[in-house]
Amino acid sequence: MEYYSPAPLPTPIFKLLSGDEYDKQGDWSVTELGLPPQIAILQRRYRKSLKINVMDMAFAVRGNIMHSALANVKMAGAIVEERFMINILGKQISMKADYVWPYQEAEGDSPRRFQIIDMKDPSRYKAQPDPQGHWYTQNEWTAQCSDEGWIKQVNCYAYGMRQRGFMVDDLVIAAFLRDWSWRECHITKVRDYPPHEMVIQPVPLWGDDQCLNYLESRVRLMEESLLLKDEELPECSNEDRWAKPDLWAAVTTTGATTRAVTGGSKFEDPMSANTFNDTRNAKKPKKLSTVEFRAAESIRCERGYCSAAAFCGQYKNKIKKNPF
Ligand code: SF4
Repeated sequence: MEYYSPAPLPTPIFKLLSGDEYDKQGDWSVTELGLPPQIAILQRRYRKSLKINVMDMAFAVRGNIMHSALANVKMAGAIVEERFMINILGKQISMKADYVWPYQEAEGDSPRRFQIIDMKDPSRYKAQPDPQGHWYTQNEWTAQCSDEGWIKQVNCYAYGMRQRGFMVDDLVIAAFLRDWSWRECHITKVRDYPPHEMVIQPVPLWGDDQCLNYLESRVRLMEESLLLKDEELPECSNEDRWAKPDLWAAVTTTGATTRAVTGGSKFEDPMSANTFNDTRNAKKPKKLSTVEFRAAESIRCERGYCSAAAFCGQYKNKIKKNPF
């Protein structure tokens, strides 16, 4: 893996941004298992050849700083950032929960109960109120985590900890919202806006069977994918690529400028766009519009969020028009 900077940086800052060493242990990590197979396998095959722009590592550094800060919080019995492994289908699966602490002591026959706290620094869009529009009551947070990837990840940690004998039955995301704005919250009062810069998101708790089924299915998928050539790997779906659906729009062109007409910018199929276009043109024959296809942006591939992009045939041949 080679780090580079497109802009001059003081050496300590370059070192800070490029210091996120990969500590591979076991056959698969829970993080890898959660990736689309094409990304996980290409990253693994080409890790040594990856060229990383250190400017893209700022988010990772921010995350590391937050994790270090939490790790400094001392609680009796807490298990902090401890990497461990469990066996799934004969493979060693490594995982590291951020902070596991005993929130309730043992009582009678009831064992000591533990909560997992997973720290994230997402956009404020990741935090939504509950269906009634509430965030919390006096006693609890009610706006649950809805990110499928996080739910799977944290439940795998809980399963792993239970396999080690810890009764983990409470999971939360502590989300520090990196683009939260006091102004948007209190002055412009954006709808459904998080009430604080940090929110706690309870994570739905899976049973052991659900966790095991998930882990086994991902290990199978990854092991099967390892046997495939690059060009045979399962393609990333729209969801995997963080792509919205393709759209069709009714547009007019003036000189070099093409603009969607009023009400005509977002059709999810060409037939609806054509119907709208025909109706509009019948009413406004002096300025005819035409239907234009607008391919959805694959945000993960095109905005530098996928480090495997340089080795990905799907990206080179189907998504990026003038690759590299
Ligand atoms: S570049 Fe895009 S399509 Fe290719 S592996 Fe990455 S996310 Fe998937």
